[in-house]
Amino acid sequence: MCKFDCKDFVDKCHACCCGMIPFEKKLYNDNVDKIITKPIKVNEFHELDPFDNKEKDFIIPITNNMTCCFLQDDYKCAIYDERPTVCKVFGDETVPALSCHYQDKDGKKRSRQSKRQLERKSEKNLKAYLKKGKSIIKGENKWSI
Ligand code: SF4
Ligand code: SF4
Repeated sequence: MCKFDCKDFVDKCHACCCGMIPFEKKLYNDNVDKIITKPIKVNEFHELDPFDNKEKDFIIPITNNMTCCFLQDDYKCAIYDERPTVCKVFGDETVPALSCHYQDKDGKKRSRQSKRQLERKSEKNLKAYLKKGKSIIKGENKWSI
């Protein structure tokens, strides 16, 4: 797990990593009272959790502003201690999708070139995903994005 610090970056990144991610259904239901942005709908699905290879029920809360429903106005997480594994490991660079565009896993600010390379990879992945005809809003989103 990376140990970088986001506080020097949030003025620029606005916690753009905190998008509409899948939550284990129980974790989500246990924390509904801490929701900051009320979802317009929730998508549910049952799938293998890639972090522990166990089948689980998941929920993706869909928000109007496309951010995580637990993201606070100060860009902090309302459920930080209980946040999902994907949030805990984000930034460790094990796969491109877990790379922060602003800092590397050691907390070093990325060069413009490195940031652009990651952005291109993300755009490519998103285009490939959308080409399959799937849509987050339509409720077909899975881990594959
Ligand atoms: S991980 Fe990166 S994008 Fe997310 S809050 Fe930290 S600096 Fe910003
Ligand atoms: S649960 Fe917290 S850390 Fe994870 S995406 Fe939402 S606001 Fe960000």
